[in-house]
Amino acid sequence: NAAFDPEVIKKDFPILGRRIRDDARLVYLDSAATSQKPLQVLDAERDFYLHHNAAAHRGAHQLAEEATEGYESARETVAGFVGARADEIVFTRSATESINLVAYAMSNAGRAGEEYADLRVGPGDEILVTEMEHHANLVPWQQLAARTGATLRWVPLTDDGRLDATTFDELIGERTRLVAVTHQSNVLGTVNPVRAIADRAHAVGAVVLVDGAQSVAHQPIDVAELGADFFAFSAHKMLGPNGIGVLWGRRELLERMPPFLTGGSMIEEVRMDRTTFLAPPQRFEAGVPMAPQAVGLAAAVRYLEALGMEHVEAHENALTRLALEALGDIDGVTVVGPRTTRDRGATLAFTVDGIHPHDVGQVLDDRGVAVRVGHHCARPICDRYGIPATARASFYLYNSQDDVKALAEGVRAAQRYFL
Ligand code: PMP
Repeated sequence: NAAFDPEVIKKDFPILGRRIRDDARLVYLDSAATSQKPLQVLDAERDFYLHHNAAAHRGAHQLAEEATEGYESARETVAGFVGARADEIVFTRSATESINLVAYAMSNAGRAGEEYADLRVGPGDEILVTEMEHHANLVPWQQLAARTGATLRWVPLTDDGRLDATTFDELIGERTRLVAVTHQSNVLGTVNPVRAIADRAHAVGAVVLVDGAQSVAHQPIDVAELGADFFAFSAHKMLGPNGIGVLWGRRELLERMPPFLTGGSMIEEVRMDRTTFLAPPQRFEAGVPMAPQAVGLAAAVRYLEALGMEHVEAHENALTRLALEALGDIDGVTVVGPRTTRDRGATLAFTVDGIHPHDVGQVLDDRGVAVRVGHHCARPICDRYGIPATARASFYLYNSQDDVKALAEGVRAAQRYFL
């Protein structure tokens, strides 16, 4: 698409004009950790604070009405972006909180009233995850298993960084109550066949949670097409503000879930000895709503929609192809994850023979190239491939072919320096 020009897009992101270290051009390749924010998002938040700031869902005054309107219309905007109904969108603090909310519901359902009981897991039940999960989609399930006596199982990885589909039949069965899988790996870049996994899980009556933290920013999402029951993501990875996340859930499931955090905003009636709760999504939104963040997230969604997610995806796919070629041309560099652009996103983890990833990151940083090094909150992946850590470059809509070149030149510079 000729209209998709990262050099034009970059102008909306003043931070990308910064100089780094010794007056180097900033090459930001860490969007999988957090994305940069365009002026449109910053302006939307600032406009809220300047002109409409009040506690949403409270107060009889005009500002409170405007804040409520901003918050609720953001819910509609976000719903539209993922093909959902607005009353199935829960605002949380992060993808992490969204996942914890569901995990909590699956151990506490029943305690808050019999109507919630059928989501509760117990001894003999199984929770299935994968070996490529971010800790945010692993630790809450380990903890759920520990609390309830359920058993955690996981789908292993193939040598090229994909889920080993040959194990599904063995792993998904009558005991499986929940399948939690990432849509796109934040390390390997792998995009998982969520629809097929969900269909299989549903055939045995299991609930499916998809961690969309890394996919929603990079490809068109339609929750109906995905076939999952829950889809969790964070605003800060999709050009939006920090501190707000989203849980999409099927209405009939949300209705059967007990509250997670309790307090103001989520109650219907409170007496000194008992409380009834509002229907979803309010049941899960305790406390003063994060209206400024929601308004910022809505601006991010509008920004992405104006570009077109299919164009964002195609642009990143082209950069991925280039990056795979450029890194593949360097002796001693190994991409950890799929080495073709099929079913993979623009996140590339790699190792360089003889150089520790932290040293690679250091040399890159000296040249203005920002990558992440370490285990990227998905430690079991390192264990699987027998490596201590990786360097990870992740591309987004504001990255250009020059940024790919800067990465490859930086890796070569590290080799000249250390080898
Ligand atoms: N899942 C994946 C795949 C992620 O990459 C991340 C963020 N690194 C998360 C979940 C957690 O997101 P947050 O920290 O915003 O809650």
